[in-house]
Amino acid sequence: MRVLIYGAGQLAQMMYLAGCPLGIEVQAVDVKDDSVVHPVSKLPLELNLTQAIEAADALSVEFEHVPERLLEQAAASDKLLPSMSNILIGADRVREKKLLESLNVPNCAHRLVTDLTQLDECVESLGERLIIKASRDGYDGYGQWRLTDRSKLDALKQSLQGLDLDAVPLIVEQMVDFDRELSMVGVRDKQGNISTYPLAENLHYKGQLHVSVAPAPEVDTELQKRAAHIFETLASGMDYVGVLAVEMFQCGDTLLVNELAPRVHNSGHWTQSGSVTDQFENHLRAVCGLPLGDVAAIGVSAMVNIIGCGSFSRELLSIKGSHLHWYGKTVREKRKMGHINVGAADYAELGDKLAALSQYLPLEFFPKLEKEARRLR
Ligand code: ATP
Ligand code: MG
Ligand code: MG
Repeated sequence: MRVLIYGAGQLAQMMYLAGCPLGIEVQAVDVKDDSVVHPVSKLPLELNLTQAIEAADALSVEFEHVPERLLEQAAASDKLLPSMSNILIGADRVREKKLLESLNVPNCAHRLVTDLTQLDECVESLGERLIIKASRDGYDGYGQWRLTDRSKLDALKQSLQGLDLDAVPLIVEQMVDFDRELSMVGVRDKQGNISTYPLAENLHYKGQLHVSVAPAPEVDTELQKRAAHIFETLASGMDYVGVLAVEMFQCGDTLLVNELAPRVHNSGHWTQSGSVTDQFENHLRAVCGLPLGDVAAIGVSAMVNIIGCGSFSRELLSIKGSHLHWYGKTVREKRKMGHINVGAADYAELGDKLAALSQYLPLEFFPKLEKEARRLR
């Protein structure tokens, strides 16, 4: 079988690796020039996009910001999964909020802003602590602005002056004082069967995911069930096929959905060695119409992103239960270069391993890693 993935980054690479034992060949489309490339070497393959679409059993995406003309061409083949409209929900916060509302899924209080004068009304109704998000093309915290008090509203308006809000409106959200960030990664097959992984707890650093711990500590069956219910409402409501990630804020007993990612997700990378069937294999199984794999966790895991750094000692692999996944990209500031998965029998042991890991990573966000290690221990 053959699956063509739009986007030729690390997620396509990891889907390729997951496809090998199943005899599923993954090819990638570099959306910068429409070339069809090998997902690991990135070298062009000897076929053009039209031929690759014809030869594929399924088409899918590794990120939601694929140019619409490419999505249209892909959708015309009737092989694109998840569907184009579901991919666009993940790419456009206006569609995303509409979906959440139509399915009655709790989310952050927000307003749609198409004219900067509407920001005054936002402060009146939502309060003075706001997060302003471009409705399209944002990721890793890019395309976001914050208001922390009313006196800075004019300055904020000034900095938003140049935006074309007719083309890309803003979603203005109330800043939520959440207890923590959780994500639910799950998969739905063509028959509508759904499997959800245990919740992951996500720690961010400067707007980027830094560490995920899964199963998230202190999640009782009730909370896990509630998150699974939200996932099922969304995935079934969208008639979704493939892996879907749902980012949530936990506020006491309440779960608010922050955003959706219509694809395999960074907060699901721990599944590579921390679950029976990882998210990459399950995505391929779903889009190829194969039975889904077991999503149970094996012990407890942490995933640590390696961001903007290429030189560290591979001796970190001496930590028992650690695995390095390197993406082979040129080092750039804030770029996700790879990740490390660490498995342990319990949280205390995981804390020890994270503390040990922090000794190998000369990263600026290291205090946070040590803090997390202390918390788990
Ligand atoms: P991603 O890389 O996850 O796609 P993104 O750029 O799409 O990121 P969001 O996930 O919407 O952006 O926001 C990034 C982070 O900012 C969140 O993980 C959270 O820490 C914080 N954040 C976003 N919205 C809110 C909110 N309404 N209240 C408080 N914090 C928020
Ligand atoms: Mg996002
Ligand atoms: Mg996010």
